[in-house]
Amino acid sequence: MLNQETLARMAENVAAIRRTMAEAARKAGRDAAEIRLCAACKTRTVEEVRASADLAIDLFGENHVQELVEKTDAGAYAGKPGHFIGHLQTNKVNKVVGRAAVIESVDSERLLQKIEAAAARAGLVQDILIEVNIGAEASKSGIAPESLWPLAEAAEAATHLRLRGLMAIPPADATPEMTRRFFAAMRELLAALQARQYARAVPDTLSMGMSGDYAAAIEEGATIVRIGTAIYGARDYAKH
Ligand SMILES: *Cc1c(COP(=O)(O)O)cnc(C)c1O
Repeated sequence: MLNQETLARMAENVAAIRRTMAEAARKAGRDAAEIRLCAACKTRTVEEVRASADLAIDLFGENHVQELVEKTDAGAYAGKPGHFIGHLQTNKVNKVVGRAAVIESVDSERLLQKIEAAAARAGLVQDILIEVNIGAEASKSGIAPESLWPLAEAAEAATHLRLRGLMAIPPADATPEMTRRFFAAMRELLAALQARQYARAVPDTLSMGMSGDYAAAIEEGATIVRIGTAIYGARDYAKH
């Protein structure tokens, strides 16, 4: 059971994050309403996530297929969207297509084609983001920026996919100045994607910024920030 203290702390955390988000938007001259808060809820229980869904969280992000399946089936998001934000293995694509409103972590043509095939079989159009490895060799996930265009072309040609934009995780050891430059580079990549004026893609989304750097991400153009620790507290991997 979640005690009152845990619930109260979570509510305070989300309220504080919303204030910081609004302040960062104001500083950048942006409308705070265009920035969504994604609760990155890996390792959190169905009960914790369900309780947090009553707060000012717009959507949930999962890194592991099993957790996405368990939490969607249990109604943990209370009807809010779930996004897939972790590394997706091609043999698990079937469980994610249709269940995740957006697959944010598409990082190869092989994965993209598997998602296209699964979406075609399910008779739906799957929203995706392309994950860009913005920190060069220091980051471990995402495609190199120069590989973005072939992958975007492939997404545009896949009739059961809709490319909604880009996602990035800057290297954890980058300085705040470096991280901000990575975020700015992502904003420029999204602008370049928009400038291509694809017929089918709707590239309106830039998912970047976590507990330690989401204010900078918003100042540099994020439309989704993915926050775990600052909402739920430190993760306890020993439990899993
Ligand atoms: C865990 C995770 C987050 C949130 O990280 P925190 O530092 O806990 O806010 C965001 N994005 C991805 C892809 C993650 O795996």
